[in-house]
Amino acid sequence: MAQIKVPVVRNILQANERLAAENRKRFDNAGIFVLNLMSSPGAGKTSLLEKTIEGLAGRIGIAVIEGDLQSSYDAERIQSKGVQAVQINTDGGCHLDGNMIQIALDSLDLSAVDLLIIENVGNLVCPAEFNLGEHDKIMILSVAEGDDKPLKYPLMFQICSVLLVNKIDLLPYTDCDMNKIRERARQLNANQKVFEISCRTGEGFAPWLSWIEEKVRGHKKLQAGKI
Ligand code: MG
Ligand code: ZN
Repeated sequence: MAQIKVPVVRNILQANERLAAENRKRFDNAGIFVLNLMSSPGAGKTSLLEKTIEGLAGRIGIAVIEGDLQSSYDAERIQSKGVQAVQINTDGGCHLDGNMIQIALDSLDLSAVDLLIIENVGNLVCPAEFNLGEHDKIMILSVAEGDDKPLKYPLMFQICSVLLVNKIDLLPYTDCDMNKIRERARQLNANQKVFEISCRTGEGFAPWLSWIEEKVRGHKKLQAGKI
């Protein structure tokens, strides 16, 4: 069985790479910095977006693509913050791919956008395999999920340049060991930036927002230099 399945998967991933490269070109031509945000369900992706949008209001033009199995609940949460958001419903599909992003882009006005954040489907497995054309992959892990996640989902931790550890206000009520998370993540990706945050209390947001601002500025400069 495995011999039959592997080439098919390879072909799907190769086709996706082509679409991701097209997306990337489109983002770069428009001077937009793009993040692919991943996590398991309930880690706090949409809450992170809400707090990040509030924190960057008036300084950076933001748009969001929301990926979910069903419903437009998350896109509505984002729109209520005054930001353009388009919802992709995967109808059971467990990850976003380059083609879905291409379609979603057609319903966004990118002219005043500096930063596009794509909230992937809640899943620590296959979203790691599908590039969307983003500049950085980032992930959010909540302390309620436990400190063993880097051991169980190593690829996700390897490919993400940022790890946001959320719900740190709950640390006293869990057996989660922050040092273990940091050490296990570091072994998988020594260059990963780690931010400890609470979307509920707002703790730890300042360095995260600075990281984004620096990235957006750096990307603009890089693209301006190419023209
Ligand atoms: Mg969400
Ligand atoms: Zn999937």
